[in-house]
Amino acid sequence: MSKNQNKTGSYSFFHCIEKNFDKAAQFISIEKGLLEQIKACNSVYRMHFPVKIGKEIKVIEAYRVQHSHHKLPCKGGIRYSMKVNQDEIMTLAALMTYKCAIVDVPFGGAKGGIKIDPQTISSENIEKITRRYTSELIKKNFIGPGIDVPAPDYGTGEREMSWIFDTFLSLRSGDVDALACVTGKPISQGGVRGRKEATGLGVFYGIRELCHVKEDMYSVGLDVGLVGKKIIIQGLGNVGYHAASFFHESGAIIIALAEREGAIYNEKGLNVSKVFLHLKNNGSILNFPEAKNIKNTEKALELECDILIPAALENVIHKNNANRIKAKIIGEAANGPITPEADEILDKKGVIIVPDIYLNAGGVTVSYFEWLKNLSHVRYGRMEKKFRENVNAEFLKVIETFCKKTISIEEKKMILRGPREIDLVRSGLEDTMINGFHKICDIKKSLKIENMRTAAFVLSINKIIDSYERLGIFP
Ligand code: GLU
Repeated sequence: MSKNQNKTGSYSFFHCIEKNFDKAAQFISIEKGLLEQIKACNSVYRMHFPVKIGKEIKVIEAYRVQHSHHKLPCKGGIRYSMKVNQDEIMTLAALMTYKCAIVDVPFGGAKGGIKIDPQTISSENIEKITRRYTSELIKKNFIGPGIDVPAPDYGTGEREMSWIFDTFLSLRSGDVDALACVTGKPISQGGVRGRKEATGLGVFYGIRELCHVKEDMYSVGLDVGLVGKKIIIQGLGNVGYHAASFFHESGAIIIALAEREGAIYNEKGLNVSKVFLHLKNNGSILNFPEAKNIKNTEKALELECDILIPAALENVIHKNNANRIKAKIIGEAANGPITPEADEILDKKGVIIVPDIYLNAGGVTVSYFEWLKNLSHVRYGRMEKKFRENVNAEFLKVIETFCKKTISIEEKKMILRGPREIDLVRSGLEDTMINGFHKICDIKKSLKIENMRTAAFVLSINKIIDSYERLGIFP
């Protein structure tokens, strides 16, 4: 058994990512030592701290890993889950490094995790744990606007980010940039409009881009365009929920949605907002009136469909179910949902896999916009909205005089409108996802690489090498 295998003979998650990295490294001619440096995790902070829950003192296990310092601050979410362990957090931190490089977000990768099940703990106790974790990070200098900036991830959201900010501020009062110590905050606490849905919207933009590439669509026997494509989404957290809504709105057909307790299926399509209302009212997606239940949620991944979107946790597609996957396209909204063994099986079957390090980068892209907003202390659009509207009005007057025609009030409203924060954030995200997609495709073509994952890694590693070279560390 190799040192990268565990007792059951399977490989560690970190080693899986190293394998993807090594495949890409074959296309890069650079000194091996630099590649080793890029691959390695720079700092791992493992902590245990006591928290009084009820009458008992519980020892909480938690992590913050900074994978790369080639750009600062480090950036990455914090997850709350019973599956949290060092290997997982190291891997997710590494994925953040590669992800940020692909979408030109100037951060090193990081990730944090607390080993708790937030569904079984009261919100008072989650708050206690979050605040204590934050103060541990502050003590060790593992958080700060220019050091390391957490964000939401699996099991966390705006509420936790608010507590992190508040704890940071109370211990660093007077720091004028304190708001930039964490992203994914509520709007009233310095958050940016569009952050909540950003990862799901980025997934939508990435898949939409792919669906417009003729050669790719023909290679898997599909028509060009997203309209009418049959989609399955696994995981209805923040990412899966928003991705499902955007796909549904754009005319794709959501035939199945899968959650922990089971999945629901309707070949003619599910009305996403109705399903969410049902989920809210009943605490489960099962027994939705217009759908069939699928008790074994894993079976939903194996249904006939055009596009499969795993949007929950890692390793859900593995060597034992890969052969039964019938999707023609898999969009990795989650981090690491496909094991390397499954990846090879699916590659051989000709499935197009849109990799996580590109596809779910929308979240960190908009986190970057939030961080910039916090450092500039001004809302996007505040300075230029009215100015743009005035310029547009003048422009319109000239056109009307020139054409001797009056434009309708409705049309005028549309043309005159200056950009709001949400417009700027969404267009920045769309542009980022479109650019990232085409850069990966260009590398894939020029180096004759067979799959998008390896091409995405090549793009990312080249960018990191470039940063190191500019730093002058490796002349
Ligand atoms: N948790 C998200 C991710 O895995 C977002 C990270 C961030 O915004 O910093 O990409």
